Amino acid sequence: MLKTPSRLLCVVAAAALLVGCRGEGPPYDNLVFVTVDTLRADHLGLYGYPRPTSPYLDELGREGVVFWHAVAASSHTAPSHATMLTSLYPEQHRVLENGHALDPGIPSLAGLLQAQGIETVGFVSVRFLAGLSPGFDILDAQVADGEVFRTANLTVDRAIEWLRTRDRTRRFALWVHVYDPHQHVVTTRMPEPWYRLMREDSARRGGELLYFVRQEQGYPRDGLSGSFNRYDAQIAFVDDQIRRLFEAAAEVSPASRTLRVVTADHGEGLGNHNFEGHGRNLYQEQVRVPLILHGDTERLRHGVITSLVRHVDLLPTFGELLGVTASPSELGLEGVSLVPLLRDPSADLGIEPAFSQRRPPDERRVSIGWEPGIKLAVQDGRFKYIRNPEPPHELYDLQSDPYELRNLIRRHHPEKERLERWLLDKYEKLSGDHRAESPTDEIDPEILEDLKALGYI
Ligand SMILES: [Zn+2]
Repeated sequence: MLKTPSRLLCVVAAAALLVGCRGEGPPYDNLVFVTVDTLRADHLGLYGYPRPTSPYLDELGREGVVFWHAVAASSHTAPSHATMLTSLYPEQHRVLENGHALDPGIPSLAGLLQAQGIETVGFVSVRFLAGLSPGFDILDAQVADGEVFRTANLTVDRAIEWLRTRDRTRRFALWVHVYDPHQHVVTTRMPEPWYRLMREDSARRGGELLYFVRQEQGYPRDGLSGSFNRYDAQIAFVDDQIRRLFEAAAEVSPASRTLRVVTADHGEGLGNHNFEGHGRNLYQEQVRVPLILHGDTERLRHGVITSLVRHVDLLPTFGELLGVTASPSELGLEGVSLVPLLRDPSADLGIEPAFSQRRPPDERRVSIGWEPGIKLAVQDGRFKYIRNPEPPHELYDLQSDPYELRNLIRRHHPEKERLERWLLDKYEKLSGDHRAESPTDEIDPEILEDLKALGYI
């Protein structure tokens, strides 16, 4: 395609990751935003995993921008998603449990884009996220009778059907949530041929895989191949569904005008720190998430950004890239736009450390060994401090100990003092900054049944 002179100038100026030209309007018209439930960053090839879980995401990462150190605010599904959609922490938006609803009065990504005239549509794979609907023209949470979640192929089918029949004169923001990589609910739902691929890979690697995870990640026991094969097969299955979705989006909207994003709400224990699931802890296997931005390669150039970024930064970033004019501070948001990092990966955004919180567990969880009380964590890109309900607390140097195997806590460690002060101050501020009424404990009976079947309550 012949380039116009102004477009050519943009390309020539492309020493940076993001090429912007004044007077052209926002860089992107459309957004396709994918959240993969329970996806650990370190089980993807582009984040260093040695197994073939993510050929498509690896390709996106090679062409787009990969954030190496992205952190979720919660290791629980609905609170984490609400944080992505509002740029507020759970204490502020008050979506504290799965099944809680987002207050329509809180500014949200969907609401801000909707106010720009952008069509806002979401397809989620569990009914208990239906309460995040404020700002969406449509939020489809249809799960077949007798099922507790919609498999990724079916959710993506619905999204593709919508993409192909939508009003093509309008800009759009599409959120697709897929749920499959959950170790505890998927054992009878293994997707072939990806499960076979992982079993074969495991047999071929033999002890090498176990050696890798034991040595690098401090796993406490033998017999990891089975759970790894199941989890990794679901990731590979989802990777292929994301490929289908993005290819369908490219058929109906110019790739150069559509920003594609993939992240996860949180990770999965898989045995690290003696825990298989998620929600109980705030270790990196549960709060470090993948984050990939992909657009027209002339606008968003390949690069790996190593600076710490947070889920609260997504809304301001998407807002700037899609032309929302209100600033994060005007909107009272916690996050900042990451767009300067796209222009200069070494830019100093003056970003606050990443805050994560675990709510007090319910009686059932306490009965199976979860410690009662609030657990908090802060990380600044190098050090991480975890404030447990009771001492001892924990301090890790993530640079030399990314799997948090050596607790450095001691009474007067200077990093401990600094991070502890920041964390307790932040928590106090957030606790007094409720932007919505306290959530009701009344959850729709049908959703309660889903949550029981999925093992949440
Ligand atoms: Zn989740």
